[in-house]
Amino acid sequence: MGMLRVEARDCAAPPMWTIKAEEIPAEWERFETALTKTEEELMSLKQRVEKISGATEAAIFDAHLLFLRDRTILGKLNKELPSRLQNIESVYYAVVQNFMEVMRAVDDPYLRSRVLDIRDVLQRVLRNLKPATNAAPQKQEPVDSCILAAYELTPGDTADLDKSRVLGFVTETGSTMSHTAILARSLGLPAVVAVPRLVIDSRSGSPAILDGYDGILIINPSAETRKKYNTLRAEREKAYRELVRMRDLPTDTLDGRHIRLAANVEFAHEFKSIRESGAEGVGLYRTEFFLLGSDGRGMPDEEAQYEHYRRLVEACSPHEVIFRTLDAGGDKLPFEPLVEKEDNPALGWRGIRVSLSRPEIFKQQLRAVLRASAHGHAGIMFPMVSGITEVRGALKLLEECREELRERGQTFDEKMRVGIMIEVPGAAMMADVLAHYVDFFSIGTNDLTQYTIAVDRVNYRVASIFRVTHPGVVRLMARTMQAGVPTAICGEMGGDISLVPLLVGMGATEISVGAHLLPVVRVAIRHLSYEECRAMAQKALQAEDSATIRSLSHSLALKSYPQLF
Ligand code: PEP
Ligand code: MG
Repeated sequence: MGMLRVEARDCAAPPMWTIKAEEIPAEWERFETALTKTEEELMSLKQRVEKISGATEAAIFDAHLLFLRDRTILGKLNKELPSRLQNIESVYYAVVQNFMEVMRAVDDPYLRSRVLDIRDVLQRVLRNLKPATNAAPQKQEPVDSCILAAYELTPGDTADLDKSRVLGFVTETGSTMSHTAILARSLGLPAVVAVPRLVIDSRSGSPAILDGYDGILIINPSAETRKKYNTLRAEREKAYRELVRMRDLPTDTLDGRHIRLAANVEFAHEFKSIRESGAEGVGLYRTEFFLLGSDGRGMPDEEAQYEHYRRLVEACSPHEVIFRTLDAGGDKLPFEPLVEKEDNPALGWRGIRVSLSRPEIFKQQLRAVLRASAHGHAGIMFPMVSGITEVRGALKLLEECREELRERGQTFDEKMRVGIMIEVPGAAMMADVLAHYVDFFSIGTNDLTQYTIAVDRVNYRVASIFRVTHPGVVRLMARTMQAGVPTAICGEMGGDISLVPLLVGMGATEISVGAHLLPVVRVAIRHLSYEECRAMAQKALQAEDSATIRSLSHSLALKSYPQLF
């Protein structure tokens, strides 16, 4: 339960307060300083991108720079400031928001796509506007213990949320498979996505209940509803605590098949709790949030990466930590911020494609992981692999890195396991061949589903047909697991206790899930018979539709651990 804080459509509205007419010159001065700083930032970004990608890509910043000093915008601001008599950031925000609305309505896809660039400039200027020393904000919205309601949150926005002030969030767009939702789970933040008309229909300051388990937002709840939710919350917390108590029990099925239960990790603050959670190491470390963090300091160099990875390896020792190399692009953080957006980012420049086209940057990460492997147990895997050429390319660079480290006299684990993510149908089809090149597979069910049945994992309009149990997806998974190398599941499907029997039955040797799901998946595995799961999976693989597959697995789950439902 908390107060709702509604964020405006495009980026967080700045605090608003009234000013006196004589304060206007000082407001302009603050604004001019912010414009100059933004100009410097954009120029330096432009130079950076020019160096990495060339002049064409960097030209986008010319458009940003032009917009920064746009006469129409500045003219409007000049007119509005004396009439509104509010602090300059809130007037500038309103003027630019209006401008973006107009652009959105234009019947020209190119112009419409420019809205994102304008939003970026707006955010930069707002960030660079230093608070006025004499201004005591009078009308600040409540920021403590709020439930954030926003049109959209990017993974970067989500990673930046201050957990001490935000109880949870709800968005108008998004889907449960998006990286925004995955990050919310890692942060332990309740979140509800795809709520139509959220921003228009809700008001800041309204009391609200956010139920992240069932995906419900209740605005202005009655006393009775509040009471019901207070009880429900206490019950859920108690049940969870009981599950956590079993964290030291091995994840073996009733008939003795061991399933490695590992953690998916996104943030450094999770390192400490991994051991305590009882995870058998880390099955997926999504390094992109560390490498492309939104602090604006740029990509950490080899040394900084090595230090960071070493800390994680030591924290998890003796268990293995699987580092997934940079998976930029798609719906995640872009590799080169503010560069022209791609039309089909999910099919574009992401994952291993980015790394292979930037070998020097890729090799920094490979060397850093190799060096970290000397301090415990590390593994490495490559994301978004679509076929053998990428695997060969990545392995060649890895070998070069090993050689370079030997020359430098730096140690690493010569036997470090190397694997690939199976999340592109073409790779799953070729699993038998790819198996000769790597030590393990890790199935990314989020992307494998997205690509197999052509359903954008982020688009809320098609979220209801995103089915991980689509027979096509399940058959590709089975094919992958039959290829003869250990195969993990690291997509969100691994945390769905109705589907754990199917995964175990098809032959998964490892399940890696967000830390909060470990306790419940542990209990599920311990109550399953591998032989029963196998028999059920055989039937599921003959099924014609996703509902039948889900129902077969769910029935066995319900029979094996009714207490978890
Ligand atoms: C996946 O695609 O299932 C996966 C685990 O990778 P990510 O969600 O980071 O794309
Ligand atoms: Mg993926």
